[in-house]
Amino acid sequence: MEQILANTKFGDPTSDKKPLIISGPCSAETEEQTLATMQALAKTGKVDVLRAGIWKPRTRPGSFEGIGTKGLPWLQKAKELTGLPVTVEVATAKQVEDALHFGVDILWIGARTTVNPFSVQDIADALKGVDVPVLIKNPINPDLELWIGAVERIQKAGIKKVGLIHRGFSSYGNTEYRNAPMWHLAIELKRRHPELPMICDPSHISGRRDILQAVSQEAIDLDYDGLMVETHVDPDAAWSDAKQQITPEKFAELLDGIVWRR
Ligand code: PEP
Ligand code: MN
Repeated sequence: MEQILANTKFGDPTSDKKPLIISGPCSAETEEQTLATMQALAKTGKVDVLRAGIWKPRTRPGSFEGIGTKGLPWLQKAKELTGLPVTVEVATAKQVEDALHFGVDILWIGARTTVNPFSVQDIADALKGVDVPVLIKNPINPDLELWIGAVERIQKAGIKKVGLIHRGFSSYGNTEYRNAPMWHLAIELKRRHPELPMICDPSHISGRRDILQAVSQEAIDLDYDGLMVETHVDPDAAWSDAKQQITPEKFAELLDGIVWRR
């Protein structure tokens, strides 16, 4: 894993190495769906890290809230089969413990958790003495200080490899995007902290497939250090975020369609 990260801009955002590419389903649903998606992704040769949501913080109750701890062995199996590292979202100290116990390589903090300093501090406390990279998504509201505050809490726990994920900001009413990118905010953070890799999550910004390519291109044009794209073997049948997920084959086409240097 160390080597995979070191070969990309995640290891050094100021280098001209390749961006870090993360992909996988919004949620791990079944062992079959998780492994099929991840093996197909690995076969494209275009992914560095595999993602899957195990615990899903949903805005409203009553929808699928994640398969939970029972999905972690599926990720362990995906790791063995593909040789690629895996990342999951954690929102509590217990989830950090469980994820690390099952060999998750990289943790990420979701947008609904970054907003809450108590939650971020709980995660930070659980990470003391642990050496694991942590990616921190922007808070759902456009508040740069809250995002930086979360970074500081995790760094103060002793975590050396911290990265940022820009997934757009919530706004009221219908817009072109599910979450408005407000690129200037992420760029401002990148300017203030050039040492922190900034990864774009075009899936949660777009909320739909037809603008994924354009949003991904915009991020690469803005010199982002990576992309996190949601993929599913059968996107329309996904238990969460069905409208924005694409097949591993479309993912390969999306990456092939990007102009990496202009
Ligand atoms: C996700 O990555 O599936 C997710 C829940 O993202 P966010 O925290 O950006 O809403
Ligand atoms: Mn999702």
